[in-house]
Amino acid sequence: MKDRRKVVILGSTGSIGRQALEVISWFPDLFQVIGLAAHRNISLLEEQVRAFRPAYVGVVDPEAGSLLEARLQGSGITCFRGVEGLLELVQVPTCDLVLVAVTGVAGLRPTLAAIEAGKTVALANKETLVVGGDLVIEATRRRSTQIIPVDSEHSAIFQCLQGSSGVAKVILTGSGGPFRGYSRKQLEEVTPEMALRHPTWKMGPKITIDSATLMNKGLEVIEAKWLFGLEYEQIEVLIHPQSIVHGLVVFQDGAVLAQLGQPDMRIPIQYALLFPERRKNRLQPLDLAAVGALTFEKPDLDNFPCLRLAWEAGKTGGTMPAVLNAANEVAVSAFLEKRIPFLAIPEVVARVMEQHSPEPVSDLSTLLEADQWARRLAHYLITTNY
Ligand code: NDP
Ligand code: MG
Repeated sequence: MKDRRKVVILGSTGSIGRQALEVISWFPDLFQVIGLAAHRNISLLEEQVRAFRPAYVGVVDPEAGSLLEARLQGSGITCFRGVEGLLELVQVPTCDLVLVAVTGVAGLRPTLAAIEAGKTVALANKETLVVGGDLVIEATRRRSTQIIPVDSEHSAIFQCLQGSSGVAKVILTGSGGPFRGYSRKQLEEVTPEMALRHPTWKMGPKITIDSATLMNKGLEVIEAKWLFGLEYEQIEVLIHPQSIVHGLVVFQDGAVLAQLGQPDMRIPIQYALLFPERRKNRLQPLDLAAVGALTFEKPDLDNFPCLRLAWEAGKTGGTMPAVLNAANEVAVSAFLEKRIPFLAIPEVVARVMEQHSPEPVSDLSTLLEADQWARRLAHYLITTNY
């Protein structure tokens, strides 16, 4: 049992975090969970702690953190609290691999701290690379650590790139979300309940709304740029409603490699945790005859402008992607709370971007200031009917 990979999971109570623990439970000889962290859902976190017996636990919300600490008293488990606690948790010397599965920009600082501590990072949290791609990739080079993508499209591309060179471009696929083919008129009427019903993937609320606006695909374009060192001209998006082909790489000689699989995040999670090994698991194999047809179409950038906005923010660079992301996080929360309609999401993001003068990113504080500025403006626009 000595060589088991020692894993810390940030966001263990979320959709990715829970699935990661399931994958880990399939391979008790390969993994040891040494740290689990959440924002405030301490009842689920406590259950996970009792099942996986980590040495460390992290809770961002201070009140919830104190409660859990009291409940775990005498167990020998160290409890870290607050945002700073997550930074300590990812640096514990025994940890080999950190799975970053928190949602939103909250992933950025812990990811940077994990890289600085020389840990391998399995990254689900795409916002980290959208906001801080420059700094994060520079840190992985400097510290000779590796980021292994968990996001299904990026996992697919990462898998296709193993042992390959001569990449011409990559293609990210997307299901198109629940409103594929909707007119502007129809989009005016959509509710959070409708947007939360994703046709192929079961995910947390924020990414599900991003999938409905196609912002998710836009964030993924920026994520791909950083992960694979590409120019934006080398990244294409295709809508593929069956969600079976997760990503493709087009090579200089015209060959195209793709990775296929059921739309099930446990596959890319397992790949990231076990990399470079592959093991048999408990999932049903893909039955292509049952799937029948695989179709591809161009995305509709007129009715789903978030994809175009993300592309523009990425190409502009500097602090602009951080501003896009922050405005989007605020707008998505407002939509989920029924304070703005669906089509206001791209409107708020576009307004905030218009008013931003992007700056080059020299350090984390430049990014966090841009993030805060964009949040304030987005809140203001929402309260004044934008
Ligand atoms: P969920 O909303 O299901 O879970 C989020 C997790 O992060 C929870 O554990 C939550 O804790 C924790 N969390 C929330 N806010 C904070 C914070 N401020 N600080 C620390 N922890 C926090 O999200 P998902 O699992 O769906 O997504 C996680 C990330 O993975 C996102 O970046 C998403 O884009 C990405 N991703 C997700 C996919 C999916 O299938 N779900 C697919 C590809 C990428 P608590 O429960 O206590 O609130
Ligand atoms: Mg994805």
